[in-house]
Amino acid sequence: MSEKITIALKRGASCVGCDIAVVNFNEALFTLLSLADIVFSPTLLDVKYDDLRAMPSQSITIGFYHGAVRNSDNEEMAKVMRDKCQILIAYGACAHMGGIPGLANVTNKQAILEQVYRNTLSTNNEDHVFPQERYVDQAGHELTLPEFWDEVKALDDVVDVDYYVPACPPTHDINMQILNMVKLFVEEGKPLPPKGTVIASEKNLCDECQREKSDHLSVEQFFRVHEKVFDPDKCFLEQGLICMGPATRAGCGAVCPGANMPCRGCMGPTAVVSEQGASMLSALASIYQISDKENELAEEQIERIMSQITDPLGCFYRFSLPKSELGRVVKDTKTPVKEKKGKE
Ligand code: SF4
Ligand code: SF4
Ligand code: SF4
Repeated sequence: MSEKITIALKRGASCVGCDIAVVNFNEALFTLLSLADIVFSPTLLDVKYDDLRAMPSQSITIGFYHGAVRNSDNEEMAKVMRDKCQILIAYGACAHMGGIPGLANVTNKQAILEQVYRNTLSTNNEDHVFPQERYVDQAGHELTLPEFWDEVKALDDVVDVDYYVPACPPTHDINMQILNMVKLFVEEGKPLPPKGTVIASEKNLCDECQREKSDHLSVEQFFRVHEKVFDPDKCFLEQGLICMGPATRAGCGAVCPGANMPCRGCMGPTAVVSEQGASMLSALASIYQISDKENELAEEQIERIMSQITDPLGCFYRFSLPKSELGRVVKDTKTPVKEKKGKE
């Protein structure tokens, strides 16, 4: 193969950081553009959704979808992308695992709308007007909004996905890995990796972290970042600061520990586990107050660890809640209904 391929970028429930990550190809963007034409990208080009809908099925070589899937519009456009693209990539932590928007799965649609449109201190909404999916004005004009879901999903919960690119957002190095893959595919016809591959390292983040580590790790107590002065060269975990490194896939270059910030786990679970939070809890239990007699994961040990960690769910599953075994942890939240019911 030597002809140029085509690329489309589409966002779902996204902060648009993943679009910026594409811009961060920097000068390599010219290499990418010598290999591929970008035929659809609402951020980079003046295009409309109908332009994508009008393209023939399977006419785009590679589609990048970033952001989670949290409403009917996200789902519809994910399906359009799947139809138009020969290869569909879940790009970034939100498309890969639900990401930060996925933390909304601890509550539900009604509770979120109540909070945003009624209870937030800065909200001035005396008539309690809530967003409606369909509104018809007196002249008969109909306006519609996408259906806002109870549940946030990852891309592969709604469509078939070929490859996953982790991180929030994908780093320059990971983008260069994708570029190299595309280059070899276009110029030499080299086959792409097997379907389902996570385009990153197979190793664990601690393997690429440059901080000093002891052979026998033992932690007496866990701290929050403001509770102690930490040695800037030593492993965070060894000093009692939660760092998701042991439960996180490598590939980002351990940029956060390198910048004196503990890892928050945006690369997702390592290649050998699927449950990032449970893997981290297991790692903590194996280093917590180790003595010769106590080196197994006991229930009491877990309780002691959890009592020292603020927001364990948000800490261990910050980027992966929708793909975890916990899934939607709150299915039937009973939101207290205020006496004065608004227009809905
Ligand atoms: S992965 Fe991160 S940067 Fe990308 S859309 Fe999600 S929150 Fe934004
Ligand atoms: S736990 Fe964090 S700081 Fe320690 S080696 Fe692993 S990534 Fe580095
Ligand atoms: S160090 Fe952790 S939080 Fe930072 S980019 Fe890498 S995986 Fe993400």
